[in-house]
Amino acid sequence: MKRLPGIEQFKNARTRMVARDVEEAGVTEPQVLEALRAVPRHAFADKALEFQAYGGHALPIGHGQTLSQPYIVGRMTELLALTGEETVFEAGTGSGYQAAVLGLLAKTVYSVERLPELARRANRLLSDLGLANILVAAGDAYHGWDRYAPFDRIIITAGCSAIPKPLLDQLADPGILVAPVSADGEKQELIVVRRSAGVDTRIRAGECRFVPFIATEGPDADPERESRASTSL
Ligand code: SAH
Repeated sequence: MKRLPGIEQFKNARTRMVARDVEEAGVTEPQVLEALRAVPRHAFADKALEFQAYGGHALPIGHGQTLSQPYIVGRMTELLALTGEETVFEAGTGSGYQAAVLGLLAKTVYSVERLPELARRANRLLSDLGLANILVAAGDAYHGWDRYAPFDRIIITAGCSAIPKPLLDQLADPGILVAPVSADGEKQELIVVRRSAGVDTRIRAGECRFVPFIATEGPDADPERESRASTSL
């Protein structure tokens, strides 16, 4: 697996985190565990919280948003069943940490973040790490990214009340989509959509807790926000 800069720093803490907070919690796919050991999570945390980056919990990254817990990143990545050949779409770049993990395990990653400042920050961090197969854009991921669709895999990393229809339209066949969905606006559940020969099968893969998906259209639309098209950084 690609060796990323910064990997020697906090190496023991990171190895411990992966064993204790991810593997023991039930993520078993060796490639996913290796990718989590290979990404310097501290680089995605705010400088002041760097020392907390291997505590196994979610971390604030400003603007009320979070860098996801390593377990859920591992779990969702495992559910995507990547072989290295896939194009992946991520809705909700946030810190860019999940995108970095995907970047090590897939061919290309397209990630869209609605807050331009976070998109810029993630883009910079990912290029500093030399992850040239990840493209970040600022915009509303509700609409996916038409230009690069269809995607073999889609991951939504913010809690939505229903899977956005444009994202289902941009999922390839065969394809897998993983998303935290909350039907009642409270409890979120990971939903996995497996598409094969024109048929979608949905399975539930456990509870989770993400910050809300805020879109310009659909059931999670925030009427106070204007529509913004995705713009590559
Ligand atoms: N994958 C991230 C976790 C992100 S938290 C990580 O590894 O750090 C969820 C992110 O989704 C937030 O940054 C939030 O701003 C973003 N988000 C919420 N609704 C969105 C939308 N409609 N389009 C794009 N990004 C969205």
